[in-house]
Amino acid sequence: MDIKKTVHNNLSEVIGHRRFLHRIPELAFSEEKTADYVADCLGKLSLEVRTGIAGHGVVGFLDTGRPGANLLIRADMDALPIAEKTDLPFASTHKGVMHACGHDAHMAMVLGAAKILCDLSDGLSGTIRFIFQPAEEGPGGALPMIEAGVMDDPKVDYSVGCHVWPDIPEGTVGVRDGVLMAAMDQFDLTIIGRGGHGAMPHQCVDALEIGCQVVGALQRIASRQMNPLTPTVVTVGSFHAGTVFNVIPDTARMNGTTRTFDREIWDSWPRRLEKIISGICSAMNARYEFTFEKGFPPVINDAFMSDIVRRCARTTVGEKQVIEPDPSMGGEDMAYYLERSKGCFFCLGTGREDGPSIHNARFDFNEDVLATGVEIYCRIALDLLG
Ligand SMILES: [Zn+2]
Ligand SMILES: [Zn+2]
Repeated sequence: MDIKKTVHNNLSEVIGHRRFLHRIPELAFSEEKTADYVADCLGKLSLEVRTGIAGHGVVGFLDTGRPGANLLIRADMDALPIAEKTDLPFASTHKGVMHACGHDAHMAMVLGAAKILCDLSDGLSGTIRFIFQPAEEGPGGALPMIEAGVMDDPKVDYSVGCHVWPDIPEGTVGVRDGVLMAAMDQFDLTIIGRGGHGAMPHQCVDALEIGCQVVGALQRIASRQMNPLTPTVVTVGSFHAGTVFNVIPDTARMNGTTRTFDREIWDSWPRRLEKIISGICSAMNARYEFTFEKGFPPVINDAFMSDIVRRCARTTVGEKQVIEPDPSMGGEDMAYYLERSKGCFFCLGTGREDGPSIHNARFDFNEDVLATGVEIYCRIALDLLG
């Protein structure tokens, strides 16, 4: 059985999936047409299809009827609120929405792997579930899918997923043991002062100016409190205060995100942030409302599973093309599957010189990468269940 040839024979169909899905991008938790298409494709295969999980989640369940390993292969379905600027003949037909994070590719590869593995199922033992989850871009569809039982019955032993990755060169595959991506959170802060005339600051409590102090001070958590050898990020991504030049505003609103690979630091964020916020507000006679929403856990790959993925990637693209990528401060809700099974999230290189990053209105990639992803998925399944 020549897997490479089989994948090659299926490539035009996989590219077809990608292009169809690219035309109909849908935002988190509204992936209705996407889910219909995915369920339709899976319905043509010899597996059980479950739909409507945690919103529009879809699972294709392949049961070989023989005892063996239980593998989960994961794709994400949602797109971003970005107006596409690619000029591709299959560009988005949904105004202001675009598959700018490659989730169209992720779905196409899992659909391709599902078809080939169904054809090969006579030689496999155990189960494979092909997971299509909503809302990776936030607030996260993985956890609601897991809470709906997609990792149970039988319990998943191994999980795998991948992301197209412009940070490493086209044609390479990035596999990394241990931590790959950061824990990510969101915080919201409103500072409440007392407004008044711009010429009379002594009669006011200037929420805007206090907000500026807070933004500056929050930056000192990463630069002055953390060990420089332990990466952390505190970003204030929005700040709104005031309406006109001669009025001191009574409120300032901001929100932002924190990132770390370290679970202890992750737990400490709300305390660290609030200590600074309350200290400044108290000194300046302002009140505040602060909420901290814990996000996805860090993405941590299992050494055993990473080893299998690395081996399968080497067979697929050659020894030299498999590299160890730097970890990223980005977050991914693949983390939840990895917390509950031996799992590995790997990177498919799509980087080229001056190529756009993901989340960019011009993001695109060489579709050859789809064959690489499908082949690696098939090899992993054959390795664990063959
Ligand atoms: Zn993204
Ligand atoms: Zn993504």
